[in-house]
Amino acid sequence: MEERPLNFLEKIIEDDLKNNRVPGGKIVTRFPPEPNGYLHIGHIKSIVINFGLAEKYGGKCHLRLDDTNPAKEETEYIDSIKEDIKWLGYSWGNDEYYASDYYDKLYEIAINLIKEGKAYVDSLSAEEMKEYRGTLTEGGKESPDRNRPIEENLRLFEEMREGKYPEGKYTLRAKIDMQSPNINLRDPALYRIKYAEHPRTGKKWCIYPMYDFTHPISDAIEGITHSICTLEFEDHRPAYDWATSIDGIEFTPHQYEFARLNISYLLMSKRKLLYLVNNNFVTGWDDPRMPTISGVRRRGYSPESMKDFVTRVGVAKVESMVDYALMEFCVREDLNKRAKRLMAVLDPVELVIDNYPEGKVEYFEAVDNPEDENSKTHMIPFSKHLYIEREDFMETPVKGYHRLYIGNEVRLKYAYYVKATSVEKDENGKITVIHATYDPESRGGTTPDGRKVKGTSHWVDASSALKVEVRQYDKLFKSEVPGAKTGNYLDDLNPDSLIVLNDAYVEEEAKNVKLGEYLQFIRNGYYILDKDTTEDHLVFNRTCTLKDSWSKEKAKMGL
Ligand code: ATP
Ligand code: MG
Repeated sequence: MEERPLNFLEKIIEDDLKNNRVPGGKIVTRFPPEPNGYLHIGHIKSIVINFGLAEKYGGKCHLRLDDTNPAKEETEYIDSIKEDIKWLGYSWGNDEYYASDYYDKLYEIAINLIKEGKAYVDSLSAEEMKEYRGTLTEGGKESPDRNRPIEENLRLFEEMREGKYPEGKYTLRAKIDMQSPNINLRDPALYRIKYAEHPRTGKKWCIYPMYDFTHPISDAIEGITHSICTLEFEDHRPAYDWATSIDGIEFTPHQYEFARLNISYLLMSKRKLLYLVNNNFVTGWDDPRMPTISGVRRRGYSPESMKDFVTRVGVAKVESMVDYALMEFCVREDLNKRAKRLMAVLDPVELVIDNYPEGKVEYFEAVDNPEDENSKTHMIPFSKHLYIEREDFMETPVKGYHRLYIGNEVRLKYAYYVKATSVEKDENGKITVIHATYDPESRGGTTPDGRKVKGTSHWVDASSALKVEVRQYDKLFKSEVPGAKTGNYLDDLNPDSLIVLNDAYVEEEAKNVKLGEYLQFIRNGYYILDKDTTEDHLVFNRTCTLKDSWSKEKAKMGL
């Protein structure tokens, strides 16, 4: 592991551990997703921070599903969240909790607050409440219900729970301070009425606790030592501290905020991603163009590269925008080390070696991964009839073109030198066959006379290669900040984010490729087998091209 300075969270934790501020010396963190969508790359950062810190300091990290908004939550999301965390290589052990586990406890705490005169049932409408709340510069106004007698509050709250009132009629509010400079302390709502069936508690409740009440108390109940969240919760910290200091709450957790991860070209809001799914702009949450964890997994990104990426970005206290190119750089770095190399021709044209015997097949040994000293090898068949990329031949070569043209000699990777002699065309003038001759003495790519050629082409043997479907994915959005210009991110959808190739060929070894195996199609990019594959129809997704714009950018910046 590379040495790096401690980030601010590590400093806080090390200081707490040193000064015996952590019970038993074991830190406890939690990752608290709301199950209202699939996790995205931003969540990877939160997962790596929470699980990573627990791992580093010998503590543990709880998985807490923040299921306090029953209308929007689904079991499918919970399953996907678990799968994604596991894919990243983390485990919560037995510590799987749900905010809804604490509904009874929260209700009891609310009753106590009422009894102590610290909470009241308010009949202001949502709109009025907003009006009474005041602004950042002006204090608020007390609700006429603020001094409702305790007995009446108890009765009304009980009746709210029994379902005697419609949604919006009453709210339970904490009695804190309507003049507080922090708006979140101006008598925040604790409970609202909501008639919704909950995936876990069913119809038991028709009142649900609010986030600012539920979250800190859940943390306290679970003994979370470091409650780490994103910056937008900074203003809520006083409310967090208020809730955890309620009488009877024994454990006092602390909240720390870090800057959320933003990446150029990507949208990372579950709400917007849901919109794309529901309106068929993508094929689902795991569409390989989606910035979801399931999307990038299907696209062929490795968990290691994603963890490397968020680690490189670091943990900061100020928001910033991270370059998409840095993410792809991390993906390429990792895949370069592990991807199996195969030859694939994506836009084929036939190449016939006229002086090679018809029916003869010979095999060349190819290293699976030249970056790995101990790499395995596999055999590649070669014969008279091959395919090469259409762009690797030019009838009238432009200046500086070193690939195949009539009269020019190039190397076929692993195999022989070949020289083009003539072409055949169809009635539209499109080249259908390129004729060439080979030099039998150039087997393996060198000749006895030591003559050099400038171009090397990849190829496949026409009779043994597998005809496959290749999905050429690109960015889903074509601008750095989708929607920045017009206010509507749909205006920035990239019409070329998916190009499907149905006449592509991969060498015979493709038969042995497994789901989840990282691949490089030589000179074309990184690829992975898609789950849409069937026995006689292989589908490959392009993970990314081989071009590395990040290194160039870094060089420009003098890094
Ligand atoms: P979204 O805005 O996409 O709906 P969210 O914050 O509502 O995300 P939660 O399910 O509440 O999603 O998030 C779980 C945890 O992940 C929270 O602690 C949240 O702060 C963190 N998180 C969400 N988005 C990011 C991000 N872009 N970068 C880092 N952490 C994030
Ligand atoms: Mg949310």
